[in-house]
Amino acid sequence: MIEVLVADITTLQVDAIVNAANRSLLGGGGVDGAIHRVAGPELLKACRALHGCATGEARVTPAFRLPARWVIHTVGPVWHGGQQREAQLLENCYRNSLELALENNAETIAFPAISTGVYGYPKKQAVAIACGLMQEYAPRFKSIVACCFSEEDAVLYRQAIGGDI
Ligand code: ADP
Repeated sequence: MIEVLVADITTLQVDAIVNAANRSLLGGGGVDGAIHRVAGPELLKACRALHGCATGEARVTPAFRLPARWVIHTVGPVWHGGQQREAQLLENCYRNSLELALENNAETIAFPAISTGVYGYPKKQAVAIACGLMQEYAPRFKSIVACCFSEEDAVLYRQAIGGDI
């Protein structure tokens, strides 16, 4: 099942939440900042031990003070106009995060709209990629949540899932 929610991802009681991190994995703004604030300083300590992450890859840590069990940190591509493998890299983020969730026996997982904030990926295109991967993996999870930060984003996800894009 794919669910589209308008929520702060740090409040969700799912097995895994996905963080739109940067390559340092040492925290940042946006959803990354929110996750670190709520998880507490133990998360930064766990992330330091990972020594960064390449764009498109994913790493897992415990979620510490968050209601989730795991945080899957993935590094989305910065949008440079679409000619620098951005679509392939964004697809890799979703696939690698979903595979890592399965390896950790997660049955429920929530994603923010990776790369669509500071990294500037055009929302409609990013949502199409996100929904393609969520639909591919949906049979292997109890629930995959598209966690939107605004109602306008939720409309884009609902349209994409309905094939209306
Ligand atoms: P990126 O650097 O990958 O673009 P951002 O954190 O800037 O990451 O934005 C990614 C998406 O996460 C944006 O759509 C933004 O609105 C959304 N977002 C920001 N904070 C939260 C939050 N607490 N919960 C869910 N989504 C969030």
